[in-house]
Amino acid sequence: MTEPHDAAARRAVAPVICYPVDTLPQPNLTLYAAARATAVKVSEVQVEPRGAACFRADAGQFFRISSLGGPQVGDLNLWNAADLSERFYSGKTRALHGTHITRGQRMWSSLPHLRPMATITSDTLEWYGIDGFGGSVHDVIGTRCDPYTGNLLAGGQYHHCCHSNLTRALADETGLPLADAERHVHDVLNVFMCTGFTRDTGQYFMKASPVRPGDYLEFFAEIDLLGGLSACPGGDCSAQHSSDTATCHPLLIEVFAPAPGALDGWSVPALNGYDGTHGRGPAEGSAR
Ligand SMILES: [Zn+2]
Repeated sequence: MTEPHDAAARRAVAPVICYPVDTLPQPNLTLYAAARATAVKVSEVQVEPRGAACFRADAGQFFRISSLGGPQVGDLNLWNAADLSERFYSGKTRALHGTHITRGQRMWSSLPHLRPMATITSDTLEWYGIDGFGGSVHDVIGTRCDPYTGNLLAGGQYHHCCHSNLTRALADETGLPLADAERHVHDVLNVFMCTGFTRDTGQYFMKASPVRPGDYLEFFAEIDLLGGLSACPGGDCSAQHSSDTATCHPLLIEVFAPAPGALDGWSVPALNGYDGTHGRGPAEGSAR
């Protein structure tokens, strides 16, 4: 195909950031750190390799995901504990914060809610930055390994992809039938996973996670949360997933509650301020 005469000039146009975040409401990390210093552990659950578990963290509590035993990637789903239709919105989180998230950044909820569900308050892999391949950790660019894509690419019936693990865990936690629970499973935060896009073909890549036992990612729950975490069958995701080939390890989830009064001045984020009428007036617009 011949290029237009001004192709070089068109390619040379400088990019602009789609969503400058200087007007985003900022978390008060100083207050969160002071509250965390008073917190005590209220629960913990271990996620078995190639399995998933649910956990609950009330608004104002902290939850920590830790590596145990060896390098392991986790796939995290978050729901509003009182309304499963409000759930983590990977795509908009990516649009706001970039391809990978770390301390001070937030997991945002689906439309029409679009508010912070959780804020990352500690990340022991923050030192990793962006490596020479363009890779980094804790991405919001992947989806979750699932048996449908596995079947599409390789055939077969594999039952321990993160999608299935999260489906079983949510069904067990809520009592929902498996098929109903499956509809609530969504694109994840890839905890500890090291990923990027190749510059030559733009393809999604993964590489061995730099996580080591003792590393953790800790969050502040901005609303009452139900969480689901799968210990991916890909293990450290250095070679393949959607199979029982990789060496896998457990993950630990711990929930911590600050002392009463430690969060004075903080409140649960309000639902998004858009009125939901979409140009049709209040009678026809969605009731908010
Ligand atoms: Zn997975």
